Amino acid sequence: MANSEYGYVRNFEQGDALPPSNWIVVRIDGRGFSKLCKKYNFEKPNDRRALDLMNAVATEVVRSFVDIVLAYGQSDEYSFVFHESTGLFERRAAKLATSVATAFTAEYCMQWSTFLPDQPLARPYPTFDGRCVCYPKHSILRDYLCWRQADCHINNLYNTTFWNMVLKGGMSTTEAEQALKGTVSSDKNEILFSRFGINYNSEPEAYKKGTVVYRLYVKDSCVNGSLKPENTGDKVPDTASKTQLEKERKRKQKAQIVIDHPDIIGDAFWTAHPYILA
Ligand code: ATP
Ligand code: ATP
Ligand code: MG
Ligand code: MG
Ligand code: MG
Ligand code: MG
Ligand code: MG
Repeated sequence: MANSEYGYVRNFEQGDALPPSNWIVVRIDGRGFSKLCKKYNFEKPNDRRALDLMNAVATEVVRSFVDIVLAYGQSDEYSFVFHESTGLFERRAAKLATSVATAFTAEYCMQWSTFLPDQPLARPYPTFDGRCVCYPKHSILRDYLCWRQADCHINNLYNTTFWNMVLKGGMSTTEAEQALKGTVSSDKNEILFSRFGINYNSEPEAYKKGTVVYRLYVKDSCVNGSLKPENTGDKVPDTASKTQLEKERKRKQKAQIVIDHPDIIGDAFWTAHPYILA
């Protein structure tokens, strides 16, 4: 098979292995979700069921790829952070992006009816694209995550104001769009408060901050009779034996996966979970 006269065509394939010692982010994004929202009557600006579905799906993706250390999601997108040392698929970009995007797509379609039981899925089914981006330093990876969370905040403030003007304020979408042109954050906060009695700060954290999915490590052994969170996340040395690696994989597979909505721009979250980017 491998040595047939046709084998040479393999040489036309382009290598796409990502450079070593870089954090790899695979970001997936729903295809044509503006249209999909209308088709399935998503509540605007935030359909809780659709967000819960995204988060449940991301949890399964994190569970099935043990080299993912953290995932961040908002709207119809999720960013999966692979540890800088991952050797999955020899770090080949297309393999990583397609494997994550298809795992996400399959899980999304299979779990859809659990979250939106009164909206049966019909063709064209939801799909997600995926891309890989490499970040050579912690600090740049942190900035990447800040960028996504800031994007979530900016969009949510805009969308919350826009949809209140339309749904409660009786404006047309064009009128609301026009009225919001050139406004800054404080203007939108003011519109929400004075016209609709909404304090933006009291909006759900999930909408304002997006969602973080990560493994929580707890020591197996009891310290002083109580379970103690273990924040050291014993790093496996590069020279780890096969059994050590296998043990580490099993530990990750057994770890509890947490879904939360913390601020990841400041240092507090990272200080409390130092093992995530260790
Ligand atoms: P593309 O295929 O280029 O990604 P798109 O229509 O998916 O096109 P996005 O920029 O990804 O464009 O925007 C996603 C759209 O889906 C946004 O308008 C966002 O508000 C909406 N959306 C996503 N999730 C929800 C949700 N849970 N509730 C309400 N609206 C949502
Ligand atoms: P990778 O994840 O690297 O692709 P793989 O196990 O999928 O690993 P492939 O080289 O893709 O490896 O091989 C696919 C295997 O599945 C082959 O052994 C092939 O014979 C088997 N297979 C695929 N389709 C069928 C089928 N319809 N009936 C029986 N065997 C099949
Ligand atoms: Mg590095
Ligand atoms: Mg999209
Ligand atoms: Mg999007
Ligand atoms: Mg195969
Ligand atoms: Mg094959």
